[in-house]
Formats: sequence, C-alpha cells, structure tokens
Amino acid sequence: MNINDYYGARLEPTGRVLRLVIDAVNECNLRCRYCHPGEVWRTQQLDAAVVQQAMTAADDAGTLEVVLTGGEMTMHHQLPAVLDSTHLLRRCASTLITNATLLTPEIQRQLAESNLTRICTSVDGITNDLHGSARGKNLPRVLDGLHRLAGTGKPTTVITVVHRGNWERAIELSGYLADRRLAVQHHLCAPSYSGQARENYPELALRKHEFHSVQTLVDEHQADLADRGVYLTFNSFWPATGLAPIRTGRTITLQQLSEQIKDTLCNIRPNGEFRLQATTWGREMVGNAALGSVHDQPPSRLLRNAESVLADGSAKQLPRDVEARHKFQIGTHFETEERQATDVLIGHADGNESDVELVPIRSVDKHWALDNPLDISQLAAELKTEPQDRRVLLHPTGVMLIFHRRHSLVTVLRPAEWNAVCRELATQERQPA
Ligand code: SF4
Repeated sequence: MNINDYYGARLEPTGRVLRLVIDAVNECNLRCRYCHPGEVWRTQQLDAAVVQQAMTAADDAGTLEVVLTGGEMTMHHQLPAVLDSTHLLRRCASTLITNATLLTPEIQRQLAESNLTRICTSVDGITNDLHGSARGKNLPRVLDGLHRLAGTGKPTTVITVVHRGNWERAIELSGYLADRRLAVQHHLCAPSYSGQARENYPELALRKHEFHSVQTLVDEHQADLADRGVYLTFNSFWPATGLAPIRTGRTITLQQLSEQIKDTLCNIRPNGEFRLQATTWGREMVGNAALGSVHDQPPSRLLRNAESVLADGSAKQLPRDVEARHKFQIGTHFETEERQATDVLIGHADGNESDVELVPIRSVDKHWALDNPLDISQLAAELKTEPQDRRVLLHPTGVMLIFHRRHSLVTVLRPAEWNAVCRELATQERQPA
C-alpha cells in the first residue's frame, strides 16, 4: 500500500474532546510554591478500575491523548495496575506526569514495560538554587530520575515553570537536556493564580513584559535546539498575550491546543468529579463546569455528555483576555482589590456577583494557526516518516487534524489543504527514489 492510501484508510472522525486529563492521585511528596492541587498531603486516589474505564472510554471516543497525573502519579497505590491498563489503548496516546523524585528501579521497569507513549517531568533550572527556588532543592534526585526515565526508552518532555527567579536562565537547561539527550521536548509555562499557589503568586508571577522576554528567548534558540533534538516552546505566551509566536506554523503541542481551544479538554479530579475545562484554569472553576462524578456514572457516559453540551453550544468560555487577567493577574500589579475580584470570580471570596460574561467557545476551526502559511510539500515529506505514529482526524467543525502520538503534536489543516497534501503524497510516491 502506498503512503497516500495508507493515510486514506486511516482517516478517522473525532469528537471535540481531544485530551482527557486524569488527576488520579491527590498527594505528593513535594511542596512546590506554585502547586495548584495545594492539599498534596491529603490522600485521595481514583481506583485503578475507574482509571481504566476512563482510559478505554477515551480510546473508544477517538480522544487523542489521556494524561495520568496528580499530585505525584508514582504515589498511586495501584500504579502497576494503572500502567497495565495502558496496554488496552489501541489508538489513544497516553502520557504520565511525574516529579521524577521517587523513581526506584522497580518503577522504572514498570514504566518501561507499560504502553505509555511518553513521560513528562518537571525541572526548573540548571542549578539547585534555580531549580529549588520554588520547587525545593532536590535537583540531584530529579536528574537521577531523568536518567531513569531515559532508561525506559519513552520520549521525555521536561516542563519548566518559569517565574521571577529562574526565567532568564531557562534556555541553559534546554541546552543541558539536548547535550545529554535527556529530553525531546522542553516546555516552559508560567505559574498561574490558582489553588494554594495564590498565596505565593505575587513573588513568582511573570509580569507582562517578562512573558514577551521569555518568548523572545524561545524564538532565538528554537531552531538551534530543534537541530540538537529538543523541541522548545513557551506554553503560556498566547494565553497571556493573545499574540501568536512567530515560528509556529501549523503545528503546536496538544497541550497548547487544549489550553487555547476550550472545547478540547476534560478533566477527572481525584475525588471523581468530571469537569469540562471551558471555564477553568489550574484548579479554578468559574460557575459550575462539573458534569458529574465517575463514582456515579461511567466515564463513557460523562464523555458523551461532554460532547453533547459542547456540540449544542450550551457550554461557554471566558474571553481570552478576561481569563488572562485573572489567571495570570496581568495588568493588576497584584493590587489587593484586583486579587479580590478574581477570588470572587472563582468562588473563594464573598462579594457582589461577578459581571464577567461567558462567550461561545471558539473551536478548532477558528484557531489562529490556520492563518499561518502551510508548506504542502514539506508536510507531505514529513508524513512519509513515522506514519505508524500519526493519526489523521476529521474534526466535527470540518477541520483536519494530524496528530503525532509520540511527540503529542497537532497540525491543523483546512479540508482543501489536506486534499492538496494527499495529491502531493501521490506525486512524491510516483517519483523515483
Ligand atoms: S506542583 Fe506537582 S510536584 Fe510540585 S507539589 Fe504540586 S503536585 Fe507535587
């Protein structure tokens, strides 16, 4: 079968929910100052059987990726059973997020033998001081964990929370990861005003000009790092500023897509609550975005409910700039009054009813990346590599998505552009090698 027929035979319909984040465990051994779960000392876990049901429901629904996280996922009492369940996934990618400080040789073996597609972990800087200023001075343990993750053979993504105390040297860490082949992706993200982290937020938060400075650093180093095998990106630039990074093209990470497009993400909390993410950030929720509990209804039914309220337009979102004002406290200078307005909005303080108006969700067909130029022949050439890792999906809005499972990257295309890619693939097939 030629490559064009290969993709034609694998064209799949998908729903709106492209990513399901399962917070399977509440507790954590660390106490990061920007931690959203906050109450990480409290034991609360989803049973492995429920996690399995949620994963298989996502797989059946055509969801692109399930994310197993917490708290610290390796503290789940039934970790081997949860990891076993990843073998039931036929097409949905699975990602595990860990702080990498508890990775024994036994856990390393379990991760290696799982069907996880990739593993994400957090490192905040190249020195113990930089890393530890908000995370605890545990860098040697984390680096040991990173080497163990490399030993699993799974692609690793390193996440760095860039804050006042570390952003200027974040790229040094990218170089370190590239030189030692410890990660294939390095994601920078800003802390947000959520959960227990609200108390520390004024000391950690990036100011508006610092969002621009971080993105400038990324723009300057992205191409070189890509050549060295590390995909560098700043997840919080568009959510905070509404500006598109200059080098993005048509491809962004699924994590970024799910943060930017509010009908693509659902979340199951350690207490079983199943949430739409349309009006949430971090652990905060504006109004009631909970559709029910996985303890009362099967996850498959909750996912179907999510699809139907997203399809009929009854679910709404905050305008991006309003969300940015509250999530990143942009433009507030952390005045008590402004913080109080956010606390009222998210139900953490009494006050007059918020006058924030929710608006219809802008779905994938309105994504800004669709306005970026597309190099048809380059995309066709890329599709010829690792075809078994890619899914081609028709979104309910008519937009085409190409998903690279191991890299968790999504390329957005209009249908006519996909047809042009197919024609180009056919042309390239006919050319002698
Ligand atoms: S941010 Fe993550 S690693 Fe840090 S305390 Fe919270 S759950 Fe643990």
